[in-house]
Amino acid sequence: MSETNTPSFSEQDHHYMQRAIELAQNAEDEGEVPVGAVLVRDNEIIAEGWNRCIGAHDATAHAEIQVLRKAGEALQNYRLLDTTLYVTLEPCPMCAGALLHSRVKRIVFGAQDLKAGAAGTVLDLFESQAAYHYATVESGLMEVECREQLQAFFKRRRKEQKELKRLRREAEQKGN
Ligand SMILES: [Zn+2]
Repeated sequence: MSETNTPSFSEQDHHYMQRAIELAQNAEDEGEVPVGAVLVRDNEIIAEGWNRCIGAHDATAHAEIQVLRKAGEALQNYRLLDTTLYVTLEPCPMCAGALLHSRVKRIVFGAQDLKAGAAGTVLDLFESQAAYHYATVESGLMEVECREQLQAFFKRRRKEQKELKRLRREAEQKGN
C-alpha cells in the first residue's frame, strides 16, 4: 500500500465518503454497479460522479473518471492539485492511471477490489515506477458500508439472473 495503511479518518472524511455512497446508489438505481466518487478541495465538493458504463455505452465511464472530467471543467484545469478523491471502491488500473495524470493528492477508498484493485490489492500503480506523480492512498474508510453495498447489488443481480433463466426454461418447456 502506498504511503500508509493505518490512517485515522476525520469526521469530514466520513461525511464525504457518505456522500460517495449516496452517489453509488444513483448508479445502482440506473442498473449500474454501485460505485460513487467525490472530489474535494478546501473542504468543498468540486465534482461528484458515479459509475455509468452501461448507460453511457462507455467502458471508461467509471465514477472516478466522471469526477475527473467534471472537476477539470469546473476548475478549467486538468491538474487537480491539492484535492482529495473519495471513492467507494478501490480504483482499477485505468482510474489509478487517470488519478496520477490528474495530480490528485490524496485518494481515499472504502472497499478493496479483489479482482482489479490497483491501489495495493492486485497491484499498486501508486507505488510503481510508472507513478511519476506522488499521491497518498488511504483505504478502509467506511469499508463495511461500501463493501456491503456492492455485495448486496451482486447478490440481487445473481438472483435476478437465476430467475430469468428459470423463466426461460419454463417458456421452452411450454414450447415443446
Ligand atoms: Zn476504474
